[in-house]
Amino acid sequence: MKGLIIMTNKEFAEFLLPGVKHTWQEYEEMYPERDLKEGAIVTRFAPSPTGFVHIGALLVSFIAQRFSKQTDGVFFLRIEDTDTERSIENGVQKIIRDLNDFGIEFDEGMTSDTTEKGKYGPYKQSERKDIYWAYAKKLIEEDLAYPSFATKEELDTIRETQEKSKQRIGYYGRWAKDRFIPKEEAVERIKNGEKFVIRLKSPGDFYKTIVVNDLIKGKIEMPENDIDEVIIKNDGLPTYHFAHAIDDHLMHTTHVIRGDEWVSSTNKHIQFFNVLGFKVPKYAHIAPFVKVDESTGNKRKLSKRKDPEAAVSFYHEKGVPVEAVMIYLATVANSNFEAWFDCNKDAKIEDFKFEFKKIGSSGGALFDLDKLMNISKNYLSKLTKDEIYDRVLNYSKEFDTEFYDLLVKYEDYRIQYQILLNKYEDYSKSIFNIEREQKKPRKDYATYADAKKQIWYMYDELFDKYFENYDFVKITDKEEIKNIINTYIDEYYDENDDKDTWFNKIKELSEKLGYAGNMKEYKENPDAFKGNVADVSTVIRVALTSSSMTPDLYELLRLMGKDRIKERFSKLN
Ligand code: GLU
Repeated sequence: MKGLIIMTNKEFAEFLLPGVKHTWQEYEEMYPERDLKEGAIVTRFAPSPTGFVHIGALLVSFIAQRFSKQTDGVFFLRIEDTDTERSIENGVQKIIRDLNDFGIEFDEGMTSDTTEKGKYGPYKQSERKDIYWAYAKKLIEEDLAYPSFATKEELDTIRETQEKSKQRIGYYGRWAKDRFIPKEEAVERIKNGEKFVIRLKSPGDFYKTIVVNDLIKGKIEMPENDIDEVIIKNDGLPTYHFAHAIDDHLMHTTHVIRGDEWVSSTNKHIQFFNVLGFKVPKYAHIAPFVKVDESTGNKRKLSKRKDPEAAVSFYHEKGVPVEAVMIYLATVANSNFEAWFDCNKDAKIEDFKFEFKKIGSSGGALFDLDKLMNISKNYLSKLTKDEIYDRVLNYSKEFDTEFYDLLVKYEDYRIQYQILLNKYEDYSKSIFNIEREQKKPRKDYATYADAKKQIWYMYDELFDKYFENYDFVKITDKEEIKNIINTYIDEYYDENDDKDTWFNKIKELSEKLGYAGNMKEYKENPDAFKGNVADVSTVIRVALTSSSMTPDLYELLRLMGKDRIKERFSKLN
């Protein structure tokens, strides 16, 4: 027999994961308890740096943020980048920007791809390798982890055999052969260059049940985990399951609030907390957004690939106000939010106290874009003219330079282009103010982009460029149209008229040309007239704007002024 050197577990751990800077005991000391008041919720948002934020993830982060804020807790951003294939360049930056756009700010965590704030970092998993190794060594020393050499081919064979014989899939129990490799043999194989991972030696029994008390879903029963999960991959980085348990322990996360795709892994996670000797956090799993698939008629998850509205950047690009998105998410988050918000018109989302038990527990919320757009219309209708102007200006600066150039403030314009041109700031504000700043404002913009779509004709530059055709509704005879608009501008238009006088004049004009000025009279005897006052004003409206659907005509005429009205009408002559 060759003189085999008997190795202790400690030596074995050091051989497998050499050169760790600190022991796990030192790390425990480096990340002390947080000094927070009783009941403070410490939670996190923990995306992979894919650069993409799903609306469902925004919901999760919003809920997490609310609970931490409500309890004077801590909300941090941890980047889970151990799966290098899912990482993209500047992915962290993109995620932070998208989240910040929606008012999701963090007390601690990554602030860009390279910088961070807070005392419990690093907040990027790829920079915490030493920490994971320290705890992996702890498990190896305690005989709760071991090196595994199983190749992809061997694992495939195990799976195929399990499938054929209708057994549970996975590396567990008698399938987990590498559990039984003696340390000395493992050392030899590694010295010979064989690749290995570190696996948990799961102490779980599949035939025993664990109960997870999910704060949203209630009691969930699941079998204990008996699979020997990989904890350190052969690139030296940990798996998510292992890493998040260590991170949440050291960062003192009290609540793991996350998407419910993780529910089925919770038995593994709790097992990690237990074998590592950590206190298990509370779990709250949030159901995903679903929608009815147009082709199948069945409900399915809102998909990054198929549904543009799944990306939060969609709302930014379309110009849906952040506030509307957040109000919508709040209505989804807690079933009683909407009624509360309706009764407390001036309240802010932050004034509402969210409760876990009011979060929908099953099936997933149907994503209702129409509802979101209605919330948005309502929200935008309540802004003052100055507010809506600023927001449309800001939006256009990024997404519609043509409109921006028309709206831009004198000062901005001068600074940017050194051109002393005063574009239409006041004029634009007056247009935006039509049927605004009143008790029941007009709700015609669902997005900032809608502003241009609704009132483009008020700018001659846009009218000349985009005019397509006139949408005359009832009176379509060219001569009759000319007669109405020419008589109106020549004989009845006066820019000093107040609204009543203006309307009386439209009535007079109608009567003069054989239309009923009085709707009651018209209804009683429609055959006695060519039409009525509404038909006449529609002609004026369409001749002015090309559209039959506009805000208040009196205001449009007043803002255009006689010369421009004449100019518009002349296009029909
Ligand atoms: N990195 C995981 C994800 O992107 C996080 C899950 C969690 O919050 O624990 O889904």
